[in-house]
Amino acid sequence: MDERKRIFSGMRPTGRLHYGHMAGALINWVKLQNEYNCFWGIVDWHAMMSDYADPSKVKENCYEILLDWLAVGVDPEKSSIFIQSHVKQHAEIHLALSMITPLGWLQRCPTYKEQILNLQNKDLSTYAFLGYPVLMAGDILLYKSWGVPVGEDQSAHLELTREVARRFNGFYGEVFPEPETLLTPAAKMPGTDGRKMSKSYGNSLQIAEDMETIWGKVRTMMTDPARERRTDKGTPEKCPVWDVHKFFNKDAQELAEIHEGCLNAGIGCVDCKKKLMAHLTEMMDPIQKRRAELAKRPDDLKQILETGAARARKVAEGTMENVYSAMNLIH
Ligand code: SF4
Repeated sequence: MDERKRIFSGMRPTGRLHYGHMAGALINWVKLQNEYNCFWGIVDWHAMMSDYADPSKVKENCYEILLDWLAVGVDPEKSSIFIQSHVKQHAEIHLALSMITPLGWLQRCPTYKEQILNLQNKDLSTYAFLGYPVLMAGDILLYKSWGVPVGEDQSAHLELTREVARRFNGFYGEVFPEPETLLTPAAKMPGTDGRKMSKSYGNSLQIAEDMETIWGKVRTMMTDPARERRTDKGTPEKCPVWDVHKFFNKDAQELAEIHEGCLNAGIGCVDCKKKLMAHLTEMMDPIQKRRAELAKRPDDLKQILETGAARARKVAEGTMENVYSAMNLIH
């Protein structure tokens, strides 16, 4: 039995992952798995909440996400990687927690209104979608997680998870620890148009894309609008290319030169982008090779998911025993 502190996090299988996922979560997961007992869920029930009318891509997306995770370095030997619906206790705990979660907490949840606005092409006026944060709370509490790595935009959900845990414990006795927020250090990664990188904005650089495609996107990426001509001076802090440099360019001296060169028009935007591409290529080359190799081994991918789900179920069964007993149900 792994005695290390447990951590849970998940991603919805709604499409291939992009560099923002890598900088905002995956690079951190790769570090965390060396220190903690990590459970990483491909949360297909969450995808169903928004894609219920057309779930034809969910299965394929689960494998795409798995490939992205493994390629970046999430290691099935060090952490448990599984599909949420393969661990039935996620659905059970969702139901149990639904009993005690006040409707007002969900209606007030800031991301609920935001998601309804963002996904206007989908009818999200469902019972399940309102209960989305309860399922999320269940995902975390099922593993009695000590901590959850989240970006700042997810911290409201985690607060709700803690409130649900407190309320459950208040009714039935101490079952759930209140999980800590492990704030992911990365700030928001900009996309090619300067807005936050997001699949739905069509501005993302995807992990699976070859470098030629990536260069096509980086070449036309927005820069500081003040630099209309090569001789115009610019401000790196107003340029999304600079933000991406800061994420992926580890050469401090080159960064300083680019910063200075932008301020005094000593470097052109195309050269600046070429330098960025050199760093992206160096980083992505092994990742893409690994991804291509893994894609040829579907049986191994299935095995990874089976092993991960078996490990997850072991913990989940124990938690559900505690839940049934605390709620005074015959089980
Ligand atoms: Fe952006 Fe680089 Fe051009 Fe400056 S030189 S505006 S940082 S792309």
